[in-house]
Amino acid sequence: MLLDYNSLLLAVGFSAACLSLTLFGTWLTARSDKFLLTWAISVLAVVVEVFVYDAYIEIPGTALGVLTLALLLLGFSVMLGAAYQFRTGSSPLPRIALCASISFALALPPMALDYDGLGFMLENSLAALLLFGTAHDYWKGRAEAPAQLMGVALLYSLTAASFVLCAAVLAWDGKLVLGHAPNNWAEDLSLVIVIASMTGIGALSLALNQGRLARHHKHEAETDALTGLLNRRALFDLHGELPVGAFMAVVVFDLDGFKAINDQYGHAAGDEVLKVFAEELAGNLRPNDVAARMGGEEFALVLKRTLPETVEGTAERIRAAFAARAIETETGRLRCTVSAGFAFGTNEGTSFDKVLSAADKALYAAKRGGRNRVLDFRRAG
Ligand code: GH3
Ligand code: MG
Ligand code: MG
Repeated sequence: MLLDYNSLLLAVGFSAACLSLTLFGTWLTARSDKFLLTWAISVLAVVVEVFVYDAYIEIPGTALGVLTLALLLLGFSVMLGAAYQFRTGSSPLPRIALCASISFALALPPMALDYDGLGFMLENSLAALLLFGTAHDYWKGRAEAPAQLMGVALLYSLTAASFVLCAAVLAWDGKLVLGHAPNNWAEDLSLVIVIASMTGIGALSLALNQGRLARHHKHEAETDALTGLLNRRALFDLHGELPVGAFMAVVVFDLDGFKAINDQYGHAAGDEVLKVFAEELAGNLRPNDVAARMGGEEFALVLKRTLPETVEGTAERIRAAFAARAIETETGRLRCTVSAGFAFGTNEGTSFDKVLSAADKALYAAKRGGRNRVLDFRRAG
């Protein structure tokens, strides 16, 4: 071995301290990502454990022994909580409390009674279980970013396996009382694995968090805040550049007399009406249809692999359902209607802009024709 056990242990302590600080700093810049704080705390517990354990190696004693076990098991329980929080967004506290209390109840009494050999066996076994549990949580959430999350799960499993080895070597020796810190090849190997996997886990997890933030910002930039539908930009990002074929249609909707509703019931009531319409729109879609709020009280619907009867039927269903809704607002119950126009692409493909303006023409013909109706561009005249 090039480095002795103590140097390796201190290397773990210092790199864990750096990781904890990095996590804490990242959390400060994005406080909504609370799992970063949970994780920073878990790593901090491991840092303190490392220095307590280092003292225990020098002077083995019951109090230091119990403290080092408690800190490690607490640290890994919080780490498991952080993984759960990362995956689900829910509070990690119940899990942390459960894991910490079970592992304390099992490992601390033997250590307090000076069965340190048994204490370390149990500590290593429980640490392995907690780390496998953490790996399992990341594995369960792997759909979000498969390569990174499987990498994290693998590294946690590898670390867990190294703790299994430590427990197995102690069990093989079979000494319930040691009188000193365990000192064998499995312990050395475990420290090397901890250093390597901690670096990997740290880098992967921070990358995961960045990816999540980027997706969050992209989603916000593409979503209309009031209705939750896509906004105009997102619709153009999706369809703006692609030719529209003969079996693809664009429907545009414009609420009728909406200005009057704002004037009579107030802007907040107007917003409520927009939300109700968005609900009707979203509720009448097939999985591949795309709905967007184009701005103000104008909405668009893009339907693929469809026929005129289907498009007319869909738009008509939305129109009728919306007209039938009695909308409750702060300033009173009201009704509103919507007009719509639709147009198809062509066999050779037409630009999205052209189809959209054709649908707009049909919409204005529907307005001129008396509102609360759906019109096909080819019959709009
Ligand atoms: P028409 O039947 O011809 O479509 O008439 P209209 O009153 O619906 O159309 P107009 O274009 O005259 O008015 C649209 C109004 O929509 C004007 C604008 O103040 C209002 N509006 C635009 N965006 C919002 C919004 O986000 N919330 C609310 N409450 N009102 C909005
Ligand atoms: Mg209008
Ligand atoms: Mg309008």
